Amino acid sequence: MSDPTALDPRLAEAARHVPLARATLDRLRRPRSSLEVSLPVRGDDGEVRSLAAYRVRWDTTRGPGKGGVRFHPEVDRAMTERLALGMTLKTALLDLPYGGAKGGVRLDAKQASAAELERVARAWVSGMADVLGPERDIPAPDLYTNERIMAWMVDQWTATVRGHQPAAFTGKPLALGGSHGRTTATADGAKHVIDALAPKLDLAGDPPTVAVQGFGNAGAELAEQLFHAGYRVVAVSDSRGAILDHGGLHVPSVRRVKERGEGLRSVLCEGSVCEAREHERLEPGDLLTLDVDVLVPAALGGVITEANADAVRAGVIVEVANEPVTAEADAILAERGVTVVPDVLASGGGVTVSYFEWVQNRQGLRWGAEEVARRLGERLRATAAETWGRAEELGVPLRTAASALALERIDVAASARDSLT
Ligand code: GLU
Repeated sequence: MSDPTALDPRLAEAARHVPLARATLDRLRRPRSSLEVSLPVRGDDGEVRSLAAYRVRWDTTRGPGKGGVRFHPEVDRAMTERLALGMTLKTALLDLPYGGAKGGVRLDAKQASAAELERVARAWVSGMADVLGPERDIPAPDLYTNERIMAWMVDQWTATVRGHQPAAFTGKPLALGGSHGRTTATADGAKHVIDALAPKLDLAGDPPTVAVQGFGNAGAELAEQLFHAGYRVVAVSDSRGAILDHGGLHVPSVRRVKERGEGLRSVLCEGSVCEAREHERLEPGDLLTLDVDVLVPAALGGVITEANADAVRAGVIVEVANEPVTAEADAILAERGVTVVPDVLASGGGVTVSYFEWVQNRQGLRWGAEEVARRLGERLRATAAETWGRAEELGVPLRTAASALALERIDVAASARDSLT
């Protein structure tokens, strides 16, 4: 019996560095299940339109599927499958008792009203109900989904199964069984990873300079944490534009202004006197090639490609988005000595606190904010150190080391399941 389906090239590269049972790699060639459904949803204009929706469990060797649901116009089956494989590696690297999954709806969420989003969220749960559940596959927020959407989803689930099962979804509001620390978890996790690796990274600047692409839930929070920690955040961007200040942006006020819906700029207030600060504007794409110590892509995937990898001047890239650096760009960056802290590690805080939420739900209790923060810090710092150690030992980039560690964990579980003795 042999299967000609090609293994993901980055996995194949990692697999060269660890002894694995052949059956383990075979498991990772194709999704365990990949469901595509059509969701007829009524818009506010009264018209019913059918939206393409997906849920993929790539692998469930180590536990139930786990991963977010994104609402984005570029969502398709191939993207969802790739991201579900990414989640498989992420949960294994972090040693969470899950496999990996991902879901999505092909939809421009920015153009949808709250009422339309609610109908889409509820339709998604109804459409996917056969494959979900706290011990089967547990969705969470991702791009353009948030705790409000998870609230509609878990409410729909309650109606579907005729009972309360808060552990079926994570990233819920606190009032519906959410966990402390979930909304800032991705940024908190990235900050722990940066702190753990900072002494080893060659951050030349004093203070080190940072550019953040994507000023959303994760990017804005991380930018603010880095600002408070003494980093000089010189540029941030969102989907509409980017601002630059070589002297350093006042990130808290940039955030406040953006949250008021006034775009990207900062306003500094002393007492009752407020002064609008004018910043240089740049094309969002140009942010990626600024001369900074740390570049944080925290928006969409595939932004650093073979077309611009040569122009990247940062010494360190911290992948807070899913898959911002393509495989071709990875090779160029490795050649040039740029350290890429891979998404499976740098953005692992979200799913880690999702796991804590699921544990709390299953036990019917709530941990305090400090306990969540402590556990998150311990796990992310330990995983960062372990990944760094493995990279040094194997003489490979961090991404390959992270995948190798993940593959090893999947292999142990797969071998335990498959063993004849
Ligand atoms: N969407 C997040 C991720 O890509 C979180 C997933 C989760 O919490 O299950 O890691």
